[in-house]
Amino acid sequence: MTDDKLSPDTLAVHAGQVRTPEQENSEALFLSSSFVFGSAAEAAARFAGESPGNIYSRFTNPTVRMFEARLAALEGGERCIATSSGMSAILSLCMGLMRAGDHLVSSRSIFGTTINLFSNVLARCGIETTFVPQTDYPQWEAAIRPNTRLLFLETPSNPLLEIADIRRLAAIAHGRGCLLAVDNCLCTPALQQPLALGADIVIHSATKYLDGQGRCIGGAVVGPAAMLNEDIFAFLRNAGPSMSPFNAWVFLKGLETLRLRMSAHCGTAYALAHWLQQQPGVRRTHYPGLENHPQHALARSQQSAFGAIVSFEVDGGRAAAWRLVDAVRVFTITANLGDAKSTITHPATTTHHRLTDAQRAEAGIGEALIRLSVGLEDGGDLRRDLAAALSAMAG
Ligand SMILES: *Cc1c(COP(=O)(O)O)cnc(C)c1O
Repeated sequence: MTDDKLSPDTLAVHAGQVRTPEQENSEALFLSSSFVFGSAAEAAARFAGESPGNIYSRFTNPTVRMFEARLAALEGGERCIATSSGMSAILSLCMGLMRAGDHLVSSRSIFGTTINLFSNVLARCGIETTFVPQTDYPQWEAAIRPNTRLLFLETPSNPLLEIADIRRLAAIAHGRGCLLAVDNCLCTPALQQPLALGADIVIHSATKYLDGQGRCIGGAVVGPAAMLNEDIFAFLRNAGPSMSPFNAWVFLKGLETLRLRMSAHCGTAYALAHWLQQQPGVRRTHYPGLENHPQHALARSQQSAFGAIVSFEVDGGRAAAWRLVDAVRVFTITANLGDAKSTITHPATTTHHRLTDAQRAEAGIGEALIRLSVGLEDGGDLRRDLAAALSAMAG
């Protein structure tokens, strides 16, 4: 049976696995920096690209390759390139596809470090970025110039969960000869497949749900084989932001349980968001699964579930928000997300503290905003934890 006949749950467990002669049932972990050639002639053929096979783990490692093949299968992409982090996946994409003088259009509602990468690091290399509001399509269109190569976004956005229409942005990009890249970190292929909706490239921070238990840093780029091999693999080989084989092995095992975990995360988050919006002291709850979310219908049509990030604004500004954060017992105060452990963050003073007040106001990140990443604990325990913290907040 070929892989394209198998359903995602089967692909998540089997895709990409290559067994050694030892016939191991689980995926082998190849902790080896380099690989041995049978002869000088074989070494020469490998280096010349005439014979396939491993050379050196910066760019060829069997465990990393298994992870790449499995994630590519789940995203429905031809090729995946694994990287050392989510940030290095975005860097590899941009450095691989663009050169000085090129232009990028990005949603302004993206991961804070990605904003810094675009506005500082890429700017120094002569690649300019225009930031536009996530769901203002005429502004996306108007920002495109003759030298624009790439449109970039995350949907849902973090922490406000704004949903952008991937089909519509793909049409805008392709109408003007640009590529569309989607950071699929919050949904994962278990909930949303941007390539099937018309995007050209998918980005991942594997650190989040692909690992799922908060252990390893990693990232990936998924897309057409020709583009990835020619442009992005060349960057990886020469610049070296490679995924460690150990991390690849952890992510491979993470992919096996991804759909089960996402389903549990989403179910608990859905119930918690509906409960939260009815609590005194909670002014507004942001969650795409709420009927009053501005893009609820779009979320329904392009995602199979609403995700596990919930954010909300409390009465009383920063002081109240901090009192709530300090009062939780089950949620942990940490900036990571996508962990089995539920986490709580005050974005204005942590993940988004480097933005100016004006940028934060424009992005809608107020002092009263709290972000939850809903984990795999019992939903009742999480609800009681928040209820007690809301009482403590109110004093
Ligand atoms: C965490 C994150 C990144 C960066 O990934 P790292 O693995 O931390 O480098 C990029 N995009 C999104 C949406 C993220 O949440």
